[in-house]
Amino acid sequence: MSEPAIKLEDWAQGIPMRAGPVSLGLYQPSPETMEYWRGIERRELMIRHCGHCNRFFHPKRIVCSDCGSPDLTWKKAAGNGKVYSFSEIHRAPSEAFAKGAPYINGIVRLEEGVHLFTRFIPDPGLVKIDAPARLDFRVLESNWLLPVFLVG
Ligand SMILES: [Zn+2]
Repeated sequence: MSEPAIKLEDWAQGIPMRAGPVSLGLYQPSPETMEYWRGIERRELMIRHCGHCNRFFHPKRIVCSDCGSPDLTWKKAAGNGKVYSFSEIHRAPSEAFAKGAPYINGIVRLEEGVHLFTRFIPDPGLVKIDAPARLDFRVLESNWLLPVFLVG
């Protein structure tokens, strides 16, 4: 199966995101998040790192929220985390999402300390709080390749 590529040159105008007939809004990436999306194309999860206080962030930040340093660089996340919270969706908001229901959305806490909203994929076990989660990439209802986390 071929995966749809994100057309980076279209970003300046914003990209309408849809899941079937449901609009998910206009996605308008910024220069501060560009490396995050380019990383996804390479199947890498890129996060920001403060060289001054050694803290990691999820985009989008232009200065460190701890120490105020502008010394931020991009680093590849190791891809390991734990389930911080989750919700199992049985009644999907649209037909496009219903195809995958039940599905599990939630927040993963990466070993770098970053919290990230994501889709959890039980593989093969159950999703539960503090369960180990490992990074993978899937094409979701928006038809975009996105980071997800396998649990189990
Ligand atoms: Zn800092």
